[in-house]
Amino acid sequence: ADLHYSLITNSTNADALAAAANAGRPAVFLAECQLAGRGRRGRQWQSPFAANHYLSIRYPIQGGFAALGGLSLAVGVAVADALSSLMPGLPVGLKWPNDLLVDGAKLGGVLIELAGEMEGRVDVVVGVGINGRMTAAQAEGIDQRWTDLASVMGEAPSRNEVASKVLVSLLEMLANFSVEGFAPLMTRYQDYDQVVGRKVQVQSVDQVLTGVAAGVSPDGALRLETADGLKELYGGEVSLRIQ
Ligand code: ATP
Repeated sequence: ADLHYSLITNSTNADALAAAANAGRPAVFLAECQLAGRGRRGRQWQSPFAANHYLSIRYPIQGGFAALGGLSLAVGVAVADALSSLMPGLPVGLKWPNDLLVDGAKLGGVLIELAGEMEGRVDVVVGVGINGRMTAAQAEGIDQRWTDLASVMGEAPSRNEVASKVLVSLLEMLANFSVEGFAPLMTRYQDYDQVVGRKVQVQSVDQVLTGVAAGVSPDGALRLETADGLKELYGGEVSLRIQ
């Protein structure tokens, strides 16, 4: 893959979206700091200098949009696997559809965006933010519980090791995902699932559903047991809160 590194950028996802399609080769964008790091639906991702990890991969996936079901969950598994192999015992978990958690506090997040559809493939941008070591002052403005690797592990692991493990794991996962989709990762996802069996509230643009989370489907939908029966919800439209 091509590797692009910047000290400061607005957003590694924006860089990856703006990059040329480059004949279907994967491209990686890494930065030490983002001036306008983003979360889902216009939310901000706090991205102080040299404290955390900000990386995005532009990757061509064969097939149409239907081939993308579960991609955000697959990314979560790949990142959680990389972090746990580097830091055995790290109690990292996943909150559907896009959060990395430790003891309910947000350690990182995933943001998938679409760069375009061409010649029978979809170019996706997979963005990942992982907190390495962040001070309370740097985190000002984060309106939910957060954590970082340094506080969970007692000391921050090598930044280079974290970045390279996570990248290798993501690139391997994406190569498999292009062929097989999310289904083969379901059991590994279940090991990290922090939501299953819990009472949750899921909010979409026009409704709020409450129910008990009952795992995920092979295409990445959240299965929710509600008073009106089992529903399958897709991550694009909704936000989930554990109750
Ligand atoms: P949803 O469940 O709908 O995805 P979310 O609150 O998890 O909601 P995201 O778009 O995933 O939203 O992430 C953005 C949110 O994450 C911000 O609104 C802020 O609360 C929080 N946040 C921002 N920067 C960080 C960070 N560096 N570490 C942890 N949390 C952060």
